[in-house]
Amino acid sequence: MAAPDTARSRAAILQLTAERAGHCAFFFDFDGTLAPIQEDPDTVHPAAGIVEVLAEVNRRLGKVVIVSARPADFLRQRFAALPDVAVFGLYGLEVQRPGGLVETDPSAAPFVQVMSDLADRARAELPAGTRVEYKRLSVAVHYRNAPHLAAEVEQWGKQRASDLGLRVQAGRMVVELKPPGQRDKGSVLREETEGHSCAWYFGDDVADLRAFDALTAREEADPDFVGVRVAVANAESGHALIEAADIHVDAPEDVPALLRALLDQAP
Ligand SMILES: [Mg+2]
Repeated sequence: MAAPDTARSRAAILQLTAERAGHCAFFFDFDGTLAPIQEDPDTVHPAAGIVEVLAEVNRRLGKVVIVSARPADFLRQRFAALPDVAVFGLYGLEVQRPGGLVETDPSAAPFVQVMSDLADRARAELPAGTRVEYKRLSVAVHYRNAPHLAAEVEQWGKQRASDLGLRVQAGRMVVELKPPGQRDKGSVLREETEGHSCAWYFGDDVADLRAFDALTAREEADPDFVGVRVAVANAESGHALIEAADIHVDAPEDVPALLRALLDQAP
């Protein structure tokens, strides 16, 4: 069971949002939020009903934006049926806006070769059971199939990040190395909520806390702004995310019903 919703009731949140239909923005992480996690990350697809409900939210309530650790090209493939939706990849280092090409954050562009070399090194140095995912501007090392290697992978990541001046991003059964700089899900939220009076963010992992925090900061600066943090929570998500959320659901498969309840209230 998900934890009970706190503070504002879910009914009140739906009402406040429906009143702002057309002025809202809806941000979604991908893995673990819209798509059930799989042992092989290449086989992850949106849960049943997700694409259809996102299309309706985008049309009736406000823009839908995907903000993920995946490359933008991967996200575009998964949401090919939603050409009007912007996809931010690699925690915002890449963006593909409707009708546009993939744009790379200028701060990250010099790291393509560094990351290619790092991926080769990870494959050579890390033990069997780990899975190295090279994403052009970052390298993720998954240990979902070998959880006992967590400490070893984390230590390897910290050391390489220190050697190369990179950032470490921990996640669910994954350690990721990213270019230095400030770009993250929080900065995407700060920019993309401009001009909106309401925004929701759906996430399942510690990296999503930055996005939650950006909504909270915006609410503190603008009392009329409604920020809604949704945790798609499970045992791997961590207490911080669960405690920071306004609404909890148990799994990606439960997201469509929540959005349908919101659509039912909208004009
Ligand atoms: Mg996730």
